[in-house]
Amino acid sequence: MAEFGNPEVVEETVDVLMIGGGMANCGAAYEIMKWAEGTNLNIKLVDKAAMDRSGAVAQGLSAINTYIGSEQDPADYARMVSNDLMGITRDDLAYDLGRHVDESVHLFEEWGLPIWKTDENGERHDGSKGMTSLKDGGKPVRSGKWQIMINGESYKWIVAEAAKKALGMDRIQERVFIVKLINDKNDPSRIAGAAGFSVREHKVYVFKAKAILLAAGGCVNIFRPRSVGEGTGRAWYPVWNAGSTYSMAAEAGAELTLMENRFVPTRFKDGYGPVGAWFLLFKSQATNAIGETYMTRNKEMLDDYPPYGQAAVPASCLRNHLMLKEMKEGRGPIWMDTVTALGNLRETLSPREVKHLEAEAWEDFLDMCVGQCGIWVGENIEPEKKNSELMPTEPYLLGSHSGCCGIWTSGPTDVGAPTDETEAGVPDHLPSGWNWGYRGMTTVKGLFTAGDGVGASGHKFSSGSHAEGRMAAKAMVKYCLDNADFTPELDTSTEDLVNEILRPVKTFLEHKDYSTAIDVNPNYITPKMLQFRLQKIMDEYVAGVATYYTTNEHMMKVAGEKLDMLKEDSEKLRAKDLHELLRAWENYHRILTAEAHLKHIEFRQESRYPGFYYRADKNFVDEENWHCFVNSIYDKETGKWTCFKRAHVDLVDKSK
Ligand code: FAD
Repeated sequence: MAEFGNPEVVEETVDVLMIGGGMANCGAAYEIMKWAEGTNLNIKLVDKAAMDRSGAVAQGLSAINTYIGSEQDPADYARMVSNDLMGITRDDLAYDLGRHVDESVHLFEEWGLPIWKTDENGERHDGSKGMTSLKDGGKPVRSGKWQIMINGESYKWIVAEAAKKALGMDRIQERVFIVKLINDKNDPSRIAGAAGFSVREHKVYVFKAKAILLAAGGCVNIFRPRSVGEGTGRAWYPVWNAGSTYSMAAEAGAELTLMENRFVPTRFKDGYGPVGAWFLLFKSQATNAIGETYMTRNKEMLDDYPPYGQAAVPASCLRNHLMLKEMKEGRGPIWMDTVTALGNLRETLSPREVKHLEAEAWEDFLDMCVGQCGIWVGENIEPEKKNSELMPTEPYLLGSHSGCCGIWTSGPTDVGAPTDETEAGVPDHLPSGWNWGYRGMTTVKGLFTAGDGVGASGHKFSSGSHAEGRMAAKAMVKYCLDNADFTPELDTSTEDLVNEILRPVKTFLEHKDYSTAIDVNPNYITPKMLQFRLQKIMDEYVAGVATYYTTNEHMMKVAGEKLDMLKEDSEKLRAKDLHELLRAWENYHRILTAEAHLKHIEFRQESRYPGFYYRADKNFVDEENWHCFVNSIYDKETGKWTCFKRAHVDLVDKSK
């Protein structure tokens, strides 16, 4: 243990630092070398894990959820994103993504990802072999309007391999967890670097950088998960994304947006297995305990939320809203009627085709959520004979799936975004409008984000996150060249950074002999106990599963007080080894993310996302006063959040 007090300190100066090795940064890594060629820019990527299996795509996927194709219009895509997220998204970001995303999918196919195709006779082929590529006009098998099917167990391997090849392994450092971003000594509104530590070796890393792409995913485990006890560790969202994106950006002074938004996916109970293929490909229905389709039974509830409830596909949160009524009124459990769905298919398909589809049902889980197969096997579930239970999960925070929380970023220059906003309450130092120079740059100069980091858009998914990373890469090269004279200087000394990062280790070493039981000690708190406390607060007061996603002003006041105390106690976190040091800082990031979530829900005087959360004291959508973005900034010196409104503008005609 003693050697932890004296780590090797690695100091590096680069032009571009990429934090995270997920879909977004794999896109950036692939793209950046093309733009950086001949510039002598020094580039580095760090990931807390190993890129081959890091991030949300780690287990693989069975569909690419965003592929526009020649038959569709990016403006339609922007419309869908907006409606699904209850009308408040940035059309400039969604449209821009829509017109670029397909190129990433074409690259995936070129790199070897098998994409299902339909041949000229309408017959499906679950692989690309011998078929015309998408780029050359091949027809993908669509499981929904925007989704295409893949054989994607090795999806992340394939995408990471291309990223590594383009960037070169000497520019990549895996297993480095970034703890904090550092502002510039001479200009606090500018980024100058980042610091973290190796999760395998006794090393602290301090980077100076002109531009940083922070794409460390979304946030899980701030709410008490449904899986506790023997199920601990299971969640729908990958447990290794701990809110680093939002918390580190906030501490660096970046403006956050829509942090009140959350995603509560309805998934197969206990295994969190995906439902998309069942609903979209197998045309299955979800029912209450007595076989009624709640989307039909409770249809009129959608009229309370025009126009979002009345669209051909009602907003995701509203679909939950209709289901929760059944659960609250005692008509659960909720079932995915796999028996009827497969029975119906049997009437139109040959036995061989049915067998194939049944295999696909299993493969859907094997591709992306192996644990769900364990549940089916363990509970003797054959989907053609026995239905499976569905359950809404605990809430997650993310900006690239069906959620839109994240960082306020500069959009494209050519999509006609408003440039002059005058609404009161926006702090003076923040840019106005939706574009301030570089696509994907946050309100902190030189700090970029992509994927789950970019707020107010959503529905980018794996392909869109990759495309967004590529766009940010190009913009970062331009930023570095435009700022060639800038030399970053950190506002904190290396010594202070090292001491701060290792504080949990020091706390442990100082106090470990005070008690005989290593985990019971009045002088420190273990990361695990701190996480339990955070999850209890969020679950019970900030609309977790304990209250059927319901909160109110008074509950949030209590939560705020408890979070303040938890934040204080986080200074006493202990780390007895590198693994606990990782857990300690992950949980610190979670606390800040949770706090942002709470402050935003408190500020927004309505329930914008019924089915994801309800404010019982403001249980309505108020289009007149709250059809706007709620944004915030955090002051790391005082620990205080300032929330404010930004006007929402439709750039795409939503009446179509
Ligand atoms: P990620 O890909 O999650 O990458 C985050 C990266 O940051 C990881 O490399 C992680 O190791 C690293 N990191 C985190 N914290 C730190 C830190 N502090 N320091 C250093 N590194 C750090 N999309 C589809 O197209 N189809 C689907 O079927 C589909 N299903 C999904 C199912 C689930 C359960 C989830 C969660 C997502 C799904 N998606 C799907 C969406 C897709 O996975 C995401 O949109 C995409 O991965 C987001 O990319 P990202 O780079 O922002 O984050």
